[in-house]
Amino acid sequence: QATPPLLEVSGVTVRFGGIVALDQVSFDVQQGTIAGLIGPNGAGKTTLFNCLSRLYTFSEGRINFEGHPLTDHPPHGIASLGIGRTFQNLALFRTMSVRDNVMLGGHCRSSSGFLSNALRLPGVRREEEELSARADEAIRLMDLGDVAQRPVADLPFGTQKRVELARALMSRPKLLLLDEPAGGLNHEEVDGLRQLLKRIQQELKLTMLLVEHHMNLVMRVSDQVVALDFGKKIADGTPAEVQGNPDVIKAYLGVE
Ligand code: ATP
Repeated sequence: QATPPLLEVSGVTVRFGGIVALDQVSFDVQQGTIAGLIGPNGAGKTTLFNCLSRLYTFSEGRINFEGHPLTDHPPHGIASLGIGRTFQNLALFRTMSVRDNVMLGGHCRSSSGFLSNALRLPGVRREEEELSARADEAIRLMDLGDVAQRPVADLPFGTQKRVELARALMSRPKLLLLDEPAGGLNHEEVDGLRQLLKRIQQELKLTMLLVEHHMNLVMRVSDQVVALDFGKKIADGTPAEVQGNPDVIKAYLGVE
């Protein structure tokens, strides 16, 4: 008996005026897997991410998460549903320490926040302790132990990217959407990132969907690759299958 997919995208269509950014896109992502989303510029990858995090509404189609339509939940309910994301451009507080930045990822989801903290409401202290333990775990997983107290601004870009990942883990997502995690990284950093993604897949049983232009990373880290071109899905399969797909080769090389 196969487990139902964690994520089911079916027939999703998004139009911006005359442009069809997504055209009847359907695919499933199985629990515990890493799925790569590829496609040339303008293919619709970011639009799909924005549908998944409910920043955009789609005119047709359906997205089910754990068997329930995403549209049953308001956009601000996505994090508590278990969908986390990172952004193409870092959104870290540069003068704050690594650890404080990571801790903030927990405050985004928790019922308490800075205000109740400042007021020292009952129950907050226990929650703080739990968040603190969770931050330690995320810092360990992302190999940030040595720099935990350093201000983010002092660290190399590749390390800052790991801080963003650690922060995204704080909300304990079931599905993590990664927007170009390898963007701006050097070869060595990309290889490190690949190992870290595999580590969180194995240790946290986390499902990940990544938009990525770095083909080497996508093909090596993903269990499944979905390719888009001009808003349409052109391939969906194992990395080897997608890499050898004539439509994918054509889309990337731009030849008939
Ligand atoms: P890239 O790899 O360059 O980030 P992408 O695959 O993420 O590209 P999208 O950003 O999703 O592609 O864009 C898909 C199409 O939708 C493009 O033609 C783009 O111009 C258009 N588009 C995206 N967002 C909007 C918007 N808010 N308003 C109008 N058109 C948009």
